[in-house]
Amino acid sequence: MNHTRANDLLPFRRRTGPDRVLVVGGGLAGLFTALRLAPLPVTVLTPKPLGEGSSSAWAQGGIAAAIGAGDHADAHAADTIAAGAGLTDPEVARVVTSEAGDRIRDLLSYGVPFDRELDGKLRLSQEAAHSARRIVRVDGDRAGKAVMAALIATVAKTPSISVLENVEAVELVKRDGRVVGLYATRSGGHGRASFLAGRAVVLATGGIGHLFRVTTNPAEARGGGLAMAARAGAIIADPEFVQFHPTAFDVSRDPAPLASEAIRGDGGRLVNRDGERFMPAIDPRGELAPRDVVARGVHREIAAGRGAFLDVRALDLAHNFPTAYDVCTEAGIDPAKQPIPIAPAAHYHMGGVSTDMRGRTSLTGLWACGEVACTGLHGANRLASNSLLEAVVFAARVAADIAADAPHWPAMGEIEAPETIAVPVVAPAEEARLLKRLREAMAAHVGVERTAETLKTALSSLVDISRIPASPALANMTTAAILIAAAAHERRESRGAHCRLDFPSAKEKGRHTFMTLSDAVGIAARVTGKTPFDAVDASGVRVRAADLAG
Ligand SMILES: Cc1cc2nc3c(=O)[nH]c(=O)nc-3n(C[C@H](O)[C@H](O)[C@H](O)COP(=O)(O)OP(=O)(O)OC[C@H]3O[C@@H](n4cnc5c(N)ncnc54)[C@H](O)[C@@H]3O)c2cc1C
Repeated sequence: MNHTRANDLLPFRRRTGPDRVLVVGGGLAGLFTALRLAPLPVTVLTPKPLGEGSSSAWAQGGIAAAIGAGDHADAHAADTIAAGAGLTDPEVARVVTSEAGDRIRDLLSYGVPFDRELDGKLRLSQEAAHSARRIVRVDGDRAGKAVMAALIATVAKTPSISVLENVEAVELVKRDGRVVGLYATRSGGHGRASFLAGRAVVLATGGIGHLFRVTTNPAEARGGGLAMAARAGAIIADPEFVQFHPTAFDVSRDPAPLASEAIRGDGGRLVNRDGERFMPAIDPRGELAPRDVVARGVHREIAAGRGAFLDVRALDLAHNFPTAYDVCTEAGIDPAKQPIPIAPAAHYHMGGVSTDMRGRTSLTGLWACGEVACTGLHGANRLASNSLLEAVVFAARVAADIAADAPHWPAMGEIEAPETIAVPVVAPAEEARLLKRLREAMAAHVGVERTAETLKTALSSLVDISRIPASPALANMTTAAILIAAAAHERRESRGAHCRLDFPSAKEKGRHTFMTLSDAVGIAARVTGKTPFDAVDASGVRVRAADLAG
């Protein structure tokens, strides 16, 4: 692996031939793709040093795979389809669950130390809504960290992979209808973006949690890849489906630390300020009801002013859940004596850039995998521990597709594109103000419960924000937020994680949302009477987006 510092970006661009594959994102999906592409030359872009700024490293549960005695991929696929509330593609579920064992073997070959039983077999855990024990973990709740550490070590030994750390992609570049590279800036840097050419571009930028005020995701999970693809003209699928984790600790930390389902599994109770358990009245499964049901229960207690708390006084939190215990003590809470305040938090994006079975997007030259993609696996709701699995299965598929194509690539030559371009520079205080406004609008109006009115309010705020010049990162966030809010406005039913108080039941037959950015802009303009992005068209990045999409 070659490390290149961000301030070397320009010389690097000269060294990079157009026959290189660009992988945008250094989480599980990005690194797995890069490794599977070896020995094809790959450059990975990551806004932070490898291992930081990715949800993958934060995964606490594990990876689902039907590899235990008596379990079968068909059963795993059936559980996945049941969770997806009518929108999971059965063929995708079949493929992902049946390739799970091979991908776990790949991870073992990269050195992931999955937990084992005394007889040496992989230890398999049970998780809610899985009909069998099929979750592989590391050290209990450290799967994400361990998987990423093993992959980063393997990447370091792989000479075909170059890593550009502290570099963020801001814009895809298309020529003759094909994605041929991108513009990238130093993370947090303003002023200029450099062109990097790529024969194939793989988006692996993760999720969108930071579009919401309360989230479990790292700050880099802010819809950058989704927005870049949309602005280049790609089809986006089901963006309205956002999974809210019901129990994030509400201890004034951003991102909010997660109180894992296992704590409720061990007997943690959800209570309001008066100490009343509220879940049994909502669902007979109580605290162990599906995530979306518990998230709505928690949301309603908070909205009614009664507050929501996790009562673990009967548990030995310090011994059994040391990470959660540390969060409490750092916040000045003694969990042995008092219930812990909690709130639902944006956690996972089921929607994303629409891809086929090979991970191809609707744009030639652009692939997507991991949380940024919508493959059809999760439908309207994600089954726990299926996202890391989907990331590795589709990363391998993307790599296989690109590798099969590569020998047939004709010479590409130099791409006509300015070496660098100017990007808007915005005062940090103004940027922070807009960011806060965006995240609050999404949390208040596009959250656990939605109505036409709340979504109209959100779209109106987002359109206003979009008309103010902003950095490329914030402009991309606004784009992603408009896609989500517009699709949520148009889905006049409640299904899976999408709850419309004004349309409380599901329509008989599930349908997917497939939309382009111009569809979303049209919806926002119709609903609010204002046109998104208009006012900035003369000043910055969106002018180029319009040029490039054509
Ligand atoms: C707290 C937590 C616990 C979880 N637990 C589990 C679990 O137990 N099991 C499970 O299956 N799933 C779990 N998930 C979900 C799972 O972790 C993610 O869905 C998965 O890791 C996504 O992998 P990814 O590679 O697509 O994205 P990420 O791991 O988030 O990586 C995305 C990468 O893209 C980079 N990036 C973003 N924007 C840009 C840009 N513009 N330019 C360049 N790079 C960019 C990011 O910095 C990062 O390096 C959990 C998520 C969280 C937040």
